Amino acid sequence: MKVLVIGGGGREHALIWALKKSAEIVAAPGNGGIAALARCAPVDVNSLEAMVNLVAVENPGLTVVGPEVPLALGLVDELQRRKLRVFGPTKAAAQLESSKAFAKAFMQRHAIPTAEYALCTTLDEVRASLPRFTVPVVVKASGLAAGKGVVICNTHLEAERTAAEMFSGALLGSTETEIVLEEFLTGEEVSFFALCDGKRAIPIAAAQDHKRVGEGDTGPNTGGMGAYSTDGLLTPAMRQWVTHNVAQKTVDGMASESTPFKGILFIGLMMTPRGPMVLEFNTRWGDPETEAIMLRLETDILDLFNASIDGAAETLVIRLKPGASATVIAASGGYPGKYASGKTITGADNNADDNVVIFHAGTALKDNQLVTAGGRVLAVTAAADDLKTALDRIYARMETISFEGMQYRRDIGWRALKP
Ligand code: AMP
Repeated sequence: MKVLVIGGGGREHALIWALKKSAEIVAAPGNGGIAALARCAPVDVNSLEAMVNLVAVENPGLTVVGPEVPLALGLVDELQRRKLRVFGPTKAAAQLESSKAFAKAFMQRHAIPTAEYALCTTLDEVRASLPRFTVPVVVKASGLAAGKGVVICNTHLEAERTAAEMFSGALLGSTETEIVLEEFLTGEEVSFFALCDGKRAIPIAAAQDHKRVGEGDTGPNTGGMGAYSTDGLLTPAMRQWVTHNVAQKTVDGMASESTPFKGILFIGLMMTPRGPMVLEFNTRWGDPETEAIMLRLETDILDLFNASIDGAAETLVIRLKPGASATVIAASGGYPGKYASGKTITGADNNADDNVVIFHAGTALKDNQLVTAGGRVLAVTAAADDLKTALDRIYARMETISFEGMQYRRDIGWRALKP
């Protein structure tokens, strides 16, 4: 069967690597590494029309939507209207990610644990609501902001200024109409992934991302500099609690509001002293968590996609290799700020005899030479019986890769490895 995968990052490379075992793949737009596994078809993932036209031309047996923007644009709805098979949530269901205002009100309606908040549509409302919050206070743009829409403010004045800059467009480039003020939570963050079919949420795995650019979790936020997944990240009891009290409650709530949720529900949790609380929902696979999780997934990923589309998740058994896996991002110098592209990459071939898989996040082929084409460039990934072994393999392999300005964190997994 032909499968069309929309997207062109490390997440899509990892999904295609897993899919390749059972399907013929077309990637749109794909990237320099995906090109070794799939035919790449150029497409603008910000244009609904372009993506719908491409699906019409390719006529795949299944379309898998990787990134959030096509989901928020309603690509799944358009393909469903044409009676085409597609994996992912509809536009209404994807609001769990595309609108923090929607997600917060939804969680309140369904008693899903999350931070206290206020929704503000004007600066006056921000000023009126701020006294309800102690500092630090979290200011969030409601819409999609590629990880840049959350600012932790140490004073009310700073929060007011941040909100003003979000409303005016000075901070994010686009003007925000809704801003969420949120209570600041403390604790360890865990990403929890569940497969949903509109009725059921089946847990896949937990992972931990490393958002800050610098070692020791310092410096500005990025799309993610590395991630790991281990059995021990959540106890079996906690996994069950989150499945029941967050994932299944969310699926039940969406079904009860006539916007059934199908696809991947990625729950960003803060394990606070008051218990787990939802920081955010994402409605697709995470990046770079997916790179790490794919190395552990033993169940055929096509079975996951089909169970979600067909409403058959209840009978699905998701098997993961026991142990651990991790991924470390090699990024362009300067990222997440300004960086240069087009730098020649050496040493990044996937060697069949190697225990390490290199997924491409931002690469391109220029005259048959692999070059950098993004802030995050490569996701060097390994699985092993334990996290330390997986990371040792990754860091040994990382030494053999180079491009001008390459930077990576040497402490991925530090929380799990500390004595
Ligand atoms: P989000 O996009 O909502 O997941 O936020 C991005 C990051 O900001 C999270 O991964 C957290 O590290 C941080 N964050 C978001 N909300 C809060 C909160 N209420 N309290 C503390 N940190 C937060």
